[in-house]
Amino acid sequence: MTRPAVVVTRRLPDTVESALAEQFDVRLNGDDHPMSPGELRAALREADALLCTVTDSLTVGVFDIESCRARIVANFGVGYNHIDMEAARRLGLVVTNTPDVLTDDTADLSIGLMLAVARRMGEGERQLRAGDWTGWRPTHLMGTRVTGKTLGIVGFGRIGQAVAHRARSGFGMSVLFASRGPVADEVVAGAAAGAEQRPLDALLAEADFVSLHVPATPETYHLIDARRLRMMRRNAFLINTARGDVVDEVALIDALQAGTIAGAGLDVYQQEPSVPKALMALTNVVLLPHLGSATMESRTAMGMRAVENLVAFFEGREPPDVVAVVDSGAG
Ligand code: NAP
Repeated sequence: MTRPAVVVTRRLPDTVESALAEQFDVRLNGDDHPMSPGELRAALREADALLCTVTDSLTVGVFDIESCRARIVANFGVGYNHIDMEAARRLGLVVTNTPDVLTDDTADLSIGLMLAVARRMGEGERQLRAGDWTGWRPTHLMGTRVTGKTLGIVGFGRIGQAVAHRARSGFGMSVLFASRGPVADEVVAGAAAGAEQRPLDALLAEADFVSLHVPATPETYHLIDARRLRMMRRNAFLINTARGDVVDEVALIDALQAGTIAGAGLDVYQQEPSVPKALMALTNVVLLPHLGSATMESRTAMGMRAVENLVAFFEGREPPDVVAVVDSGAG
């Protein structure tokens, strides 16, 4: 029996590539280059499945093909804003993602960014490496205390709750959260005792740290814009491990330059991998290259979850992580 052909757009941990090779006629990306729109189109035309990542912009244009052999797009990652879901639906594609398995590591990184920017770790490390450290002194690189402060979580889903839990139980922080609808008491209590829901604008005015955990959607595009940045306190920090599009980057740079907020810890950007020079020139920001889920544990688990989705689909079962089901029956 011929095995389904799966194009894998980027290199994956060895164990994941081996698991794929056991099940599928797998086509790996040997040199790990980001695939061009033409290569993505060819993959959809010629393979039964595409295993893609956040670096693959599956736009209307990419899906604009006359014949599509692929029936499933298994995304390696929980966020799928790089996939035009409506265009995928028109082609009858099932789309899956990899929730849960990266929650803890992404939450850890959010806390790491909060500590790094408030305690000026980036500045300190750059100073030391440059040979400019002249020794301990009481007024050297004084930062801002994290313990006991108020954290505002925007988007109280899996990662938002995991960050709330760490902040409350590890750092004794008061937790506020903004969500579109009501959140069950037991969910709130399970994440962070005493956490309170606030309208977004009220949260921004109250929080010492604002951490973003909403998906990138048309509704959350520039959710944090110039007006909302002005609502934040002058001594507050913005942490973004969600998606670049959630923040108006130009307005953020203005706010950081003007000092209307104290600093930012960023893992994601609007035009990745391009990061505005103005952002890089600022000292009151910590900038990471989209590392939220970048542990061997998470990346392996994400890959295995994508494999599970593909196997289920080609065995005719409902994949566990379908984010858009369409009429093409799994076969
Ligand atoms: P999730 O469990 O779906 O949580 C997202 C939460 O955001 C949900 O509670 C959702 O509430 C809420 N939300 C959606 N739109 C909102 C709005 N307009 N205002 C307020 N809340 C809103 O997803 P997750 O697993 O926590 O992941 C969150 C995002 O993190 C992903 O979509 C991804 O983009 C990003 N991420 C980044 C990295 C990284 O490497 N930096 C790693 C993993 C994930 P509803 O129930 O109302 O929809």
